[in-house]
Amino acid sequence: MKEHFGNPSSLYSIGREGKEAVETAREKLAKALGARPEEIYFTSGGTESDNWAVKGTAFARRKKRKAHYYHANRTPCSPLSLRVSRNTGFDVTYLPVDEYGLVDPAELEAAIREDTILISVMYANNEIGTIEPVSEIGKVAREHGIPFHTDAVQAIGNIPLDLSGKERDVDMLSLSSHKFYGPKGIGALYIRDGIEIDNYMHGGAQEREKRAGTENVAGIMGMGKAIELATANIEGHNEKIRKMRDRLRAGILEIPECRLNGHPEKRLSGNLNFSFEYIEGESLLLMLDQMGICSSTGSACSSGSLGPSHVLSAIGVPPEIAQGSLRLTLGDANTEEDINYVLEVLPEIVGKLRAISPFYKPASVCEK
Ligand SMILES: *Cc1c(COP(=O)(O)O)cnc(C)c1O
Repeated sequence: MKEHFGNPSSLYSIGREGKEAVETAREKLAKALGARPEEIYFTSGGTESDNWAVKGTAFARRKKRKAHYYHANRTPCSPLSLRVSRNTGFDVTYLPVDEYGLVDPAELEAAIREDTILISVMYANNEIGTIEPVSEIGKVAREHGIPFHTDAVQAIGNIPLDLSGKERDVDMLSLSSHKFYGPKGIGALYIRDGIEIDNYMHGGAQEREKRAGTENVAGIMGMGKAIELATANIEGHNEKIRKMRDRLRAGILEIPECRLNGHPEKRLSGNLNFSFEYIEGESLLLMLDQMGICSSTGSACSSGSLGPSHVLSAIGVPPEIAQGSLRLTLGDANTEEDINYVLEVLPEIVGKLRAISPFYKPASVCEK
């Protein structure tokens, strides 16, 4: 930021250094994804990438009077698709998911209409960690000639991706740097060559005239390095984290009247999401925080809203039980000692909260 402050779009030499740094990062992203550098567009993050993919496709293809798109994505921070439909008259079909949060490719195929312009399914869910059958869904989309977008924000660094291999039927893919230990406020949208999409940000000619605005050079460089590190040894990373995660899961499931949300196997290696009956997830979170344990209830973006998580509602968790949910995610910095500590502290806190809950009747009392 001090020595290479030039604007990458300018012609003077310190600007050119910035431009080179941006292009090097683009190559790193492309390499990590099995894409070509020209197919990577830098954005301000996952939210912008999702908005661009959905709205950009909708507006580009509206001209063809094809106006239906659909969605099993429900971007975490805002009902994006609802806004698209409310403001512009697009129809949106929401697909149901099963009890684990999985989309059924056959059900998706049956819901396709003649005027469907986009299919969007998130790769892995941020709350319950469920990994969707993206390759199979992509195949269906390709057979019907419909562009397919996936929000892979949670997948990068957890699932090896190959846009010229098993993800070859993905046309657009969102990613966000801070979800793989890079800086915040920077992300990218992969757009397969030949995909029709309108601009979302208008103004200058940056990003090959597709995304206006001076490049966040430092953020882009940070993201380039981060994706290199995050994809260097995905299996090793997963193995270490999964081992800790499974021990934590087994320990927590010993607490009575507690259930795991999401799929038992098809889930991100570091994700756990539980519901504890008779208590409020928020109280649990606050007490854990006092003990130095950081957790969350729904998604980080919707904390502050009082309703139960829409993800837990979608998989059929009753609202009163969804209120008692807790998400624990493990990352590279966690250790086996952390797991021991949580297993020591959490059951006690659950017990304390249940003791003051007017609804809680221990099983032994109920039997009498
Ligand atoms: C965090 C997240 C986003 C939003 O990304 P930002 O870079 O924070 O805007 C989008 N989708 C998923 C699945 C996420 O986990």
